[in-house]
Amino acid sequence: MIFNERCQHVFGPVPSRRLGRSLGIDLVPFKTCSYDCIYCQLGRTTNRTIERKEYVPLDDVLEELEYRLATGAEPDYVTLSGSGEPTLYSRLAPLIAGIKERTDRPVAVLTNGSLLWDRDVQESLLEADLVIPSLDAGDEATFQWVNRPHPALSFERVVGGIEEFCRRFRKPVWLEVFLLKGLNATGVQLERIARLVHRIMPDRAQLNSVTRPPSEDFARPAPRDELEQAARLLGDRAEIITEGDTTQHNEYCQARRADILGLLRRRPCTSDDVATGLRLHPNEVAKHLDELVREHVVVCERDGERVFYRAAGLLKEDRKRSRDG
Ligand code: SF4
Repeated sequence: MIFNERCQHVFGPVPSRRLGRSLGIDLVPFKTCSYDCIYCQLGRTTNRTIERKEYVPLDDVLEELEYRLATGAEPDYVTLSGSGEPTLYSRLAPLIAGIKERTDRPVAVLTNGSLLWDRDVQESLLEADLVIPSLDAGDEATFQWVNRPHPALSFERVVGGIEEFCRRFRKPVWLEVFLLKGLNATGVQLERIARLVHRIMPDRAQLNSVTRPPSEDFARPAPRDELEQAARLLGDRAEIITEGDTTQHNEYCQARRADILGLLRRRPCTSDDVATGLRLHPNEVAKHLDELVREHVVVCERDGERVFYRAAGLLKEDRKRSRDG
């Protein structure tokens, strides 16, 4: 197999607030997910499913990983994440075993947690080193409103699955809670979430909120004081992760950041434009843009349905000229 800069299933390393340099593995086609979260920073789900299958050939993924490791990827973590829900991939166990044959870097799994009630999913994750599931609601109605799950998924089933998995898994579980202003960041909803967190007992409860343009305009970021209040309610295991740690970049990261900035200095682009223009994985682009926006090096703004990114300091007339033509 011949690889170019844009491998099909392996991307990065990308700077991650929690995982340092994270080498991502994308196991499902773009926006194949069991949820359609209103805050999703990858846009609306185009294939909402709970069907588990080998969406991409296992051998291809492992071959790409080997190539990226051999060509200097140097990750802190190998992370199963990407542009949908990784536990929909049916060959997780041999994949994790295959990763471990190729590197001693720890394997992290970023999952929405919706399938953790499934014993097969549980078993297949047991050899991972870190699992980060999500929980964004304290009851069924809010679950339906925020996560817009596949109809086969009920709130109780999902929460029960996360709880059971936490009991079985011997390594760290960090539960991510995505807080949205006016929806789940305060009041009864937050109290219910706090009760569930105490029941699930993850090693950490990580509070996150909107930093990139969400799938739906009405998904608004929880302000800092609400996040701090929530962290107090959740107790010692809570931490706020919306604002960045200083991430160390390797040469690969630096080069991709420079490419993206170079492009945005010439013209404002959507995230898709950047991915297509630079032949990068959409997740990789999203991570870099997230960081560049937080550093105020890049500015993002909506124009109707579309979200454009531009280098900070690009003049208004330049922006108009670029968009018009
Ligand atoms: S945020 Fe994650 S779980 Fe929610 S729709 Fe997007 S990819 Fe799926």
